[in-house]
Order: sequence, then C-alpha cells, then structure tokens
Amino acid sequence: MNISPIPAFDDNYIWLISDGHDAAVVDPGDEGPVLERLQREGLQLTAILITHKHGDHTGGVKALKQAFPGIPVYGPAHETASGVTCQVREGDWIEVVGARFQVWDVPGHTEGHLAYYGEGALFCGDTLFSAGCGRVFSGTHRQLHDSLRRIAALPPETLCYPAHEYTLANLGFAKWVEPENLDILSREAKVLALRERGEPTLPSPLWLELATNPFLRTDLDRVICAAQKYAGTPLADEAAVFTAIRTWKDKEYD
Ligand code: ZN
Ligand code: FE
Repeated sequence: MNISPIPAFDDNYIWLISDGHDAAVVDPGDEGPVLERLQREGLQLTAILITHKHGDHTGGVKALKQAFPGIPVYGPAHETASGVTCQVREGDWIEVVGARFQVWDVPGHTEGHLAYYGEGALFCGDTLFSAGCGRVFSGTHRQLHDSLRRIAALPPETLCYPAHEYTLANLGFAKWVEPENLDILSREAKVLALRERGEPTLPSPLWLELATNPFLRTDLDRVICAAQKYAGTPLADEAAVFTAIRTWKDKEYD
C-alpha cells in the first residue's frame, strides 16, 4: 500500500491510498487534481473517506461519484457531510484498497470529526496538524483537547496525515510558546528547505509532533507557564492550558 499527497487549492492535501491498481482518496475537496492523478497512474477509484463536513474536504465527492458510480463514501455519523453514503463512527472498521482502518470519533474542530487509523497511518483531517491543530469551529476546546490526547497515545512511529500544509506557519507559533525548544528550531530549518523545493512536509511521525507541537505538550511546565502568561491567570488543568494556547494562536498569531 502506497500513500501520497494530491495537492489541492492553496494548502490542502488529498491523500491517495493505492496498491498500483485500486485507489482510495481521503477528503477530496476538489475532483480535478484527483481525476488527473488517477488517469495518469491508471488507477481505479474504489472508495472515498471523509473526515468532516467542511467544503474543502468534500467539494469533489459529487463529481468523483459520477465518475466512479457505486463506490462507498465513508464519512461521519455525527454530522452531515455532503455526499457521504456510508456513515461510520467510533469502533467501526472499514476496508479500503486491501487495508483495514479503524474509525475514531475525534470531535473538536467539528462536532462529528473522524480519524481513520490503520497500517501505522492516521488520517486526521483538521484535528491534528503538523506542529499545530485545527481551530475549534463547531466542537469544543475540551473535545479537541481530548481527541489530541488520544492521538498522542498512539505508537510514536505512527505517521500522521493531516489535510493541510501548515507546518511552517505552525512552527512560527510553536516558537512563541517555547522559544528555547531546540527541536522546534531544527525542525523549522528542515521544513523551510522542503518548502523552498516545493515539497510536502507531511506525513509527520507522531514522535516529532510530541517533541514540537505545543498542543500535544500542554502537560509540560514551560508550556503551562507560557499559557498562564498569555492568560494572565493560573490555569487549573491541561484542558485550560490547551484552551489558552488555542485562543492565543487564534487571536494574536493567525
Ligand atoms: Zn475543516
Ligand atoms: Fe480544512
């Protein structure tokens, strides 16, 4: 099984899962680049996976269903995502391109957001980004924090496949939170070189996220201190630290 990105819009990645003959895509926000890639590689689309309802993740579903009639479109049971034919939820398993993926409910960015986990890969949509996380739109901060904590407990070698190329900008904010974190600085240098060559910075191994992503580091003293300094008040627990950092980034950085 091979996984590779199909760039879409300004900074989206539609992940292509293929075995050289059959293929599935995750979050096809746009059908154009997907159809082009399938044709170029002679692949047959056999399934679509949707993580959440936002249009930049579902916009290409209708046209892809027309081009490949009858294929399953897996998507969230706890929110309405356009074009989904097979609603799935926590505990379900799906089989695509000969591989099995476990469905996780990871609410927070939206109330019904899903992740798909299997073969050492996690398709996490807009829940976890490299060096960052999604904004809280229709879920809650507590939900997003809990979802990220679950992800953080996966094996460290897990490869994370978020839906956007935000790594460089996220590392800029990570430096606000932890200016003295050398892992962030060395990662930034590598990411800058990749971006200058136009290459993706994803997937991202979980161990690297644990070392550089402030939203997964809300239990560390220096992250707690930075969050309290921004909030101007002591913070009672990790969820409060998470909420402060997320709010700080929304209001001051983005
Ligand atoms: Zn989204
Ligand atoms: Fe998105």
